[in-house]
Amino acid sequence: MKRRDILRTAVGTATALAASAGAAAVSPTTSPGNGIFDIAVIGAGVFGVWTAEHLLRAGRSVLLLDAWGPGHSRASSGGETRLIRMSYGANALYTRWTMRSLDEWKALGKDSGEPIFHRTGVLRMGPAGYPYITDSEKTLKALGVPFEHLDAAALAQRFPQLGMDQLGAGLFEPDSGVLLARRGIQAAAERCRKHGATVLVDAALPPSGRGELHEISTASGATHRARHYVFACGPWLPKLFPELLGKLITVPRAEVFFLGLPAGDRRFTAPDMPGWIDETSDTYGTPDIEYRGFKVGIDPPPAPFDPDTGSRVVTEESVARMRAYVRKRFPALAEAPVVETRVCQYEETASGDFLIDRHPDFSNVWIAGGGSGHGFKLGPAVGEYVAERVVKGDAPDARFAIATHQRGAQRAVD
Ligand SMILES: Cc1cc2nc3c(=O)[nH]c(=O)nc-3n(C[C@H](O)[C@H](O)[C@H](O)COP(=O)(O)OP(=O)(O)OC[C@H]3O[C@@H](n4cnc5c(N)ncnc54)[C@H](O)[C@@H]3O)c2cc1C
Repeated sequence: MKRRDILRTAVGTATALAASAGAAAVSPTTSPGNGIFDIAVIGAGVFGVWTAEHLLRAGRSVLLLDAWGPGHSRASSGGETRLIRMSYGANALYTRWTMRSLDEWKALGKDSGEPIFHRTGVLRMGPAGYPYITDSEKTLKALGVPFEHLDAAALAQRFPQLGMDQLGAGLFEPDSGVLLARRGIQAAAERCRKHGATVLVDAALPPSGRGELHEISTASGATHRARHYVFACGPWLPKLFPELLGKLITVPRAEVFFLGLPAGDRRFTAPDMPGWIDETSDTYGTPDIEYRGFKVGIDPPPAPFDPDTGSRVVTEESVARMRAYVRKRFPALAEAPVVETRVCQYEETASGDFLIDRHPDFSNVWIAGGGSGHGFKLGPAVGEYVAERVVKGDAPDARFAIATHQRGAQRAVD
């Protein structure tokens, strides 16, 4: 992929930059008429690129704008890898959306020639009788998703690399796995461009006023006009709309470690090691993918994080916390060197449900965010859902609505 082609800086009007390559793949309306796009999607993270993709499929002309470019390092979607698993407790909607999304990710891999999905399997492990595991198993059974239940003995036999402290059950999904996140986003943005979207690097300034929004201005001094606007700005949403979203979406720091494996050791690489989620400690990770190391995601105590200026360097305390965990759960890696680290951020709603709704002050502005640490895998289904709302003007389901999030709720989706 030629990045130069995607990442053109906004230097002129939308009309001058309207892309045409590949427009024949969708309906002929994909070029903006009179310099007015059907929809401007602001934010090319996973929610933005897939919303743009589905709008293009619906024959709409699309501007896709990102402040730093699709899959950049500070975006929540900019990490190397993300888990895709079907287990969502009793939340069958998210399981169905994951099933749908996996097909789309696989198709994107075929279209782009990039190895976006790695079928490593995913293991959710926890104490015996852990409710999120038993609820997930019921949902997976009802929806026909293949899985295996492993009791403590089966878990220890199947995955001898695990230290078994506190573990009594495992839910193994053989068809799930790991997505290459950054490359997936860039491939999706490139496909949007090929299908006629105008993809620009520039930052939208917060819209002002009420009623119908006629145009947005950008940091570089450009203006763009569209009939509808979708702000899919992830952890930046509370900064763009502080009054509306400042209390509804919180942005905590997240940390990820990659551990170097003993030379020649295959125990932490698929198929011996799947993607994993450890319910005993809210920890997760991936096997060694593309030789980058064994990934351990272990979060520091929650504290507000600024996605623009927050330090992207892990702390000694975090390294010590990670070491203590790995010694217990993956004893063979107790002394493994840290070969890479990443500091990212979540964009959490209280319930863990996404926030998808029309902005109450604007008739033609939508917000799509609140990925809550589990949104990446679901990008294709979320994009489809948002695009359908925008095109048809339907209200969102109550669970995603701003009013529902304003009422507050306990965390129910993980
Ligand atoms: C460490 C970590 C591990 C995770 N693990 C998983 C996992 O295993 N599985 C899973 O499914 N999910 C996972 N998630 C969650 C998932 O990555 C996020 O929910 C998802 O990526 C959020 O996507 P987004 O599009 O909402 O936000 P982002 O990816 O942050 O995209 C928002 C975009 O908006 C742009 N933007 C912001 N303001 C402006 C502006 N004014 N103008 C123009 N552009 C703007 C930004 O530049 C950015 O590119 C994880 C998250 C983290 C941090």
